[in-house]
Amino acid sequence: MDVHVADHPLIAHKLTYLRDKRTDSPTFRRLAEELVTLLAYEATRDVRVEPFEIETPVAPTTGIKLSNPKPIIVPILRAGLGMLDGMVKLLPSAEVGFLGMIRNEETLEVSTYANRLPDDLTDRQVFILDPMLATGGTLVMAIDYLTAKGARDITAVCLLAAPEGIKHLEDELADSDIPVKVVLGTIDEKLNEKGYIVPGLGDAGDRLYGVV
Ligand code: URA
Repeated sequence: MDVHVADHPLIAHKLTYLRDKRTDSPTFRRLAEELVTLLAYEATRDVRVEPFEIETPVAPTTGIKLSNPKPIIVPILRAGLGMLDGMVKLLPSAEVGFLGMIRNEETLEVSTYANRLPDDLTDRQVFILDPMLATGGTLVMAIDYLTAKGARDITAVCLLAAPEGIKHLEDELADSDIPVKVVLGTIDEKLNEKGYIVPGLGDAGDRLYGVV
């Protein structure tokens, strides 16, 4: 597994305001979108392209364009939805699939409650969006789900991660030959006994959309 932690003062600045409990939902949503656009730049470094012949007003030249099939972006509902606009801004021609996963707050077990994805993900580059890599349970399950549909090129984009979650993901993927890349805004200190990232930002879904 390839873990890439963004190291940029603008990302650290935006994350600070995102964490602050005084930040209201509209501002939180805007910051999450801006952060994802910055992280998407790194996450798409290996996006597949092919040569493309064009003519400038001066001369013919060979450029590049995104290859087909186009990448697919998969936000994990509900909090991953708050990252979708930021990612689509950078990859407007990507398709979007949805995966609904929920964590039982007592047992921390993850279950899938919805999906809208192509049956066959063979040859698709997949970008998973989930703001919090906490225990790693959701991401492990999402990766299992996508690889069962044939995905072999998976990048996860998360705003924050706990060291325990990264370790769990690494352990689970240790025997896998699928090259998963994880792009993170930062790695926090730890998980608390309730499975929240510390210092973290609280419940990402609630802060984006309210307690419903
Ligand atoms: N999910 C969240 O929304 N926040 C955390 O800190 C951990 C998991």
